[in-house]
Amino acid sequence: STYLLNDRFVKDDEISISIEDRGYYFGDGVYEVIRVYGGTLFTAEEHIARLYESAAKIRMQLPYGEEEMKHKIEQLVRDNGIDEGHVYVQATRGAAPRVHQFPGEDIVPVITGYTKAYPATASQHEPVTLKSVEDIRWMRCDIKSLNLLANVMAKQEAYEEGHYEALLHRSGTVTEGSSSNMFGVKDGVIHTHPVSNFILNGITRRVVMECCTELDQPVIEEPMALEDVYNMDEFFMTSTTNGIVPVSAIDGKQIGDGRPGPVTEALMAAFDRKLPVPVES
Ligand code: PLP
Repeated sequence: STYLLNDRFVKDDEISISIEDRGYYFGDGVYEVIRVYGGTLFTAEEHIARLYESAAKIRMQLPYGEEEMKHKIEQLVRDNGIDEGHVYVQATRGAAPRVHQFPGEDIVPVITGYTKAYPATASQHEPVTLKSVEDIRWMRCDIKSLNLLANVMAKQEAYEEGHYEALLHRSGTVTEGSSSNMFGVKDGVIHTHPVSNFILNGITRRVVMECCTELDQPVIEEPMALEDVYNMDEFFMTSTTNGIVPVSAIDGKQIGDGRPGPVTEALMAAFDRKLPVPVES
């Protein structure tokens, strides 16, 4: 398959990345994952805007603009014949001898991208279980940074114990997942962490909030206490890769009757209606 390398489309044996790339040394870069449904990118503008926002937040200027990035990503999807799957794109601060401070202006960011094909299963997901893990990340979780060590550690801890995702909390206050946003439902009201430096402002979260407005579904954007999530009627998580995923248990305690509840189901249906093509059920 074809990869994006800066402004070119190349085969993997044509790619060489410097051993001195700052992504490799420091995780000094940002990234995005964009879903493809029926050959069409979903919420591409939002993802690309967030990529440039993340870059700006780490004071990194990409060598070309959002419009050109969109065209490149579309071409990559077309070249690789992706019908269902996603595109990954990242930008590092470039290659330079290892010192922490930024390199000179002559060093330009290195952009790479790939596609991955997989069946469209959004909102078809069987319920999953979560394990709560202390959120030890830094205070700028709003930046979609390549520095994912704390996320990787949290996910592995959950995964090793047979759980699908880590439910991150800062000293008992739920933030988000290792690569997802988290929502609880109590007495017909959705609870989720407000947009702040403690979470990534998920694009799927934004789509879900739009669905809530359309459905007149009340939402309280306030942090949940971990001790309260066990008594929620419903719980679900959202991400680009998986859409809306119902949660059946947290730390071994069953949520509701363990099946997707009415609020989750209504949102999954509303979400599917927003996708470029109807997803087969
Ligand atoms: N939170 C974190 C930490 C993530 O890494 C992700 C996505 O990978 C999300 C939330 C979900 O964001 P989105 O819906 O934009 O994929």
